[in-house]
Amino acid sequence: MEYETVIGLEVHVQLSTKSKIFCSCDTSFGAAPNENTCPICLGMPGVLPVLNKEVVQRAIRVGLATESTIADYSQFARKNYFYPDLPKGYQISQYDKPVAERGKIEIVLDGETKTIGITRVHIEEDAGKLIHGENLGHPDSSYVDLNRTGVPLLEIVSEPDIRSPEEAKKYLEKLKTILLYLDVSDCNMEEGSLRCDANVSIRPMGATQFGTRTELKNMNSFRFLQRALDYEVERQRQVLEDGGKVVQETRLYDPDKNVTISMRGKEEAHDYRYFPDPDLVPVVVNSDWVEEARATLPELPDAKRDRFVAEYSLPTYDAEVLTAVRAVADYFEEAAKGNKNSKAVSNWVMGDVLRVLKEKNLTAGECPVTPAMLSGMLDLMDKGVISGKIAKTVFDEMAATGKDAKTVVEEKGLTQISDTGAIEAEVDKIIAANPSQVAEYRGGKDKLIGFFVGQVMRATKGKANPALVNEILTEKLGKPGS
Ligand SMILES: [Zn+2]
Repeated sequence: MEYETVIGLEVHVQLSTKSKIFCSCDTSFGAAPNENTCPICLGMPGVLPVLNKEVVQRAIRVGLATESTIADYSQFARKNYFYPDLPKGYQISQYDKPVAERGKIEIVLDGETKTIGITRVHIEEDAGKLIHGENLGHPDSSYVDLNRTGVPLLEIVSEPDIRSPEEAKKYLEKLKTILLYLDVSDCNMEEGSLRCDANVSIRPMGATQFGTRTELKNMNSFRFLQRALDYEVERQRQVLEDGGKVVQETRLYDPDKNVTISMRGKEEAHDYRYFPDPDLVPVVVNSDWVEEARATLPELPDAKRDRFVAEYSLPTYDAEVLTAVRAVADYFEEAAKGNKNSKAVSNWVMGDVLRVLKEKNLTAGECPVTPAMLSGMLDLMDKGVISGKIAKTVFDEMAATGKDAKTVVEEKGLTQISDTGAIEAEVDKIIAANPSQVAEYRGGKDKLIGFFVGQVMRATKGKANPALVNEILTEKLGKPGS
């Protein structure tokens, strides 16, 4: 039987505000355990939370960027459960009145655009962290670090519109891109700033009812997300093929074994006994506030991609790659300013610039080859001072030394040989040294022209102007077969 996969993602993103959501404690990562705490985030009796306005600002920005409707009235609720990393015994979250609802995100897969609905965006506080004793020399003990308690989170819940693990990955990548453009979070998956749970089910192809779903947790990288989903979809298919039933439950992904393991029976919303938090007033967002936030939104990835296609005549693929990271898009635009050949700029950015950034683990803003340096190098190519082949050497030298192209070319003597006399002399030498190839070429084997060009380029260490070499060779060798 053919099955259809149905996936919905719940993404938790840690907002990079300076202070926590309901107190003024510092949110920075890596402080000594329990250093960033106070009576409020420790959940002491009698304390009162005060909402950080910046959290709401950021939630509104995310809501607008995902084309969600911003609620003019939203409310905090208590989600009650016990766990050692949650000193209050409840998490402050939003329940039936979230800050934003009914949005969407577009993804592109194999050239096709698809819209994934956003059910809701809501604000909540993070819980603390348990550190188990193995690494501390006390294997039987667990330690509680409450630095993360009260750090603001947004939960972004998608509709069950995703139809494959690959689409899920694309969706998460796109969401991350948007969040980074908005500068609301650092989205560092390793540090847990971006975390993702997935609801997964399968159903016979063509069915309209959803199958029983499981919830997958602990997928802290794009690779793990896709692998965990691949595994879970296949596991459910086997259960159904064997005549069994999928059980609604929460499952944990184990990246070492690449399996999902049953963790607990799935809880329902009523298990949490949600009720409005009496310590916090409702959040009222008037239209002025929304419009103010809208006015400060940056150009978003889709709009930037479409503009790159229109303004620089780039293929959609290039525009998609260049705009995936805002700093790379800025780099490209800066370098393209002085160059008419935008496609050449795009090729260099997508190729060598991204390669260097990856090798050196840098952001585009930190690239040792600045946009002006790249642009200067392309200028030298346009003027015929260096060939495309030499440009590769020049680029690597710029990346290693931070010197501009002109200096590198002068210091290393890399100027392209465009002197006809010098090239003719080399061509004569090559022709004299390879009589049998010359005979074959003249006998009709015209593909040998590549051999001769290669020989001349090698003799000149790649510095001969390739167009001139071709021209002179063809002239001296005569027509093949003549
Ligand atoms: Zn605090």
